[in-house]
Amino acid sequence: MDVLLTEKRSPDHRTEICIAPGVVCGGKQLLLIGGPCAVESAEQMEECGAVLSRTPVQALRGGVFKPRTSPYSFQGLGNDGVSILCDAGKRHGLPVVSEVMSAEQLSIAVDNFDVLQVGSRNMQNFELLKAVGKLQKPILLKRGLAATIEEFLMAAEYIISGGNPNVILCERGIRSFDSNTRNVLDLGAVVTLKKMTHLPIIVDPSHAAGRSDLVADLARAAVACGADGVMIECHPQPLKSISDAQQALSLSEMKELVQSLADIAKVVGREVATAGETTPRQNVRT
Ligand code: PEP
Ligand code: MN
Repeated sequence: MDVLLTEKRSPDHRTEICIAPGVVCGGKQLLLIGGPCAVESAEQMEECGAVLSRTPVQALRGGVFKPRTSPYSFQGLGNDGVSILCDAGKRHGLPVVSEVMSAEQLSIAVDNFDVLQVGSRNMQNFELLKAVGKLQKPILLKRGLAATIEEFLMAAEYIISGGNPNVILCERGIRSFDSNTRNVLDLGAVVTLKKMTHLPIIVDPSHAAGRSDLVADLARAAVACGADGVMIECHPQPLKSISDAQQALSLSEMKELVQSLADIAKVVGREVATAGETTPRQNVRT
């Protein structure tokens, strides 16, 4: 194939992906996604939704089908978690983002999630990519743990060539030799991908750093280098998170961070949503 579907054809060729009325990724406004690693309880998600909906955050995340390294670790609440996540999202007017790990999970995901995440460990699960390619829902495709930029784009190509053009790329750090951080955030990939592809690309500094003390600076750097948004893990009681406790921000740290992104966004010609005006209902474009 000579011209790839992910390829940028001119400098201003950009795809905007609408994830809910008034919530768009790849336009002037940055897509800010926040929430815990995993959905743990209704109280936890209610608190996240209540706080985040009063900030520029525009979408609520929370894993219910969790890809865990060990089979003995918490695997997520599964179907019970789906309603907890969606109820919190609906109550607070936030579209929801959650991971799918297999084609069998797609029917419940399509009915309930606004954005389906394909996680790092599944970036080259070609059957899953083909299956989400048959949908029209936005797909948040995370870069594989050790995937090259070409492999990353080819994974997106599977989804788009299958018929689903709504792919948001997510740089989440890659494996390296240095164990000081969980992964190494490859902001160079963001800059180069912005030149190569018309697809929007967001950054997940939480899984990249694996340490909450680095997340805010990395998120600001991501916005400064042209990312179309960020996805950040936060929790009402970070150290009590069942998974990824070390990288979770508190809700007040999250609030402070997203507010700090506004000035940086402005310098690079972008903007963040106004706090309190982020609910899909209030944000509907006419
Ligand atoms: C996640 O975002 O919940 C997650 C598991 O991330 P990753 O696939 O990047 O490890
Ligand atoms: Mn996590």
